[in-house]
Amino acid sequence: MRLGDIELHLLVTDHWKADGGLMFGVVPKILWEKQKPADRNNMVDASCVCLIARMNGRVIVCETGIGNKISEKRAQQFAIREPEDLLHALQRLGIRPEEVDAVVTTHLHWDHAGGLTRRNQLGALQVTFPKARHFIQRSEWDFAVHPDVRSKSSYLIDDFTPLADGHDAVEFLTGDAEILPGVHLRHVGGHTPGSQVLILRSGELACAVTGDLVCQTPHLRVPWNMSADLEPLRVFEQKARLFDEAEKHRWLLVLSHEPDLPAGYLEEGRWIAEPRLTT
Ligand SMILES: [Zn+2]
Repeated sequence: MRLGDIELHLLVTDHWKADGGLMFGVVPKILWEKQKPADRNNMVDASCVCLIARMNGRVIVCETGIGNKISEKRAQQFAIREPEDLLHALQRLGIRPEEVDAVVTTHLHWDHAGGLTRRNQLGALQVTFPKARHFIQRSEWDFAVHPDVRSKSSYLIDDFTPLADGHDAVEFLTGDAEILPGVHLRHVGGHTPGSQVLILRSGELACAVTGDLVCQTPHLRVPWNMSADLEPLRVFEQKARLFDEAEKHRWLLVLSHEPDLPAGYLEEGRWIAEPRLTT
């Protein structure tokens, strides 16, 4: 769909399952289960949502999904099916990896940054988008390289360290930035130290990719957050701010792991899904 001068495509890749406790933290199961039924292992359906934007002659990729390096063990643990990754989805849009100018992941967890690198046919690691600049908060990178004991299994260094090996594919940010005209990154923290929200603007119109600040539609309630969040109070604060702006200015929101219709608007606190964006 078009949003002013921006051409947007949403790719819902990597259908998988996430533990209900991980997704909804201290929210009682009797409440969240009405919206997201759990299977007998307490897992709920999830996806990885990637946004492709063409604006001002540039191609921007936001979020890269799980990618093709995942171990058999992890694939089983998260019941990852439909392994169509971002590259195949891009191919359907007629976009070659070399044509991508800017890559953003909201943070460096394995289910967002997995597609930044891939294994080629010989098994060697390579950067997926060889000509792109990759925009990452410095605080996220530092934490991902030296995570605390709780966050260790969420970061896989093969996902991102090749970006900094021998070529300068990464641009490190310290806080909010406008990386290209109309392409804004807001440092929100909370879920991880360097979590960021991407905001694309065309005149009065805007689209925000929330990352795990808003994982699925039940997380549209400010105090419903993931147990994986490092700083829940900061998450609440940033969510409230984002919802306020989104409702007031009718921003299109893209939620990180909603498997059905992950894009939509907030109207008087209600979620109005935007089906035109899902390809
Ligand atoms: Zn995630």
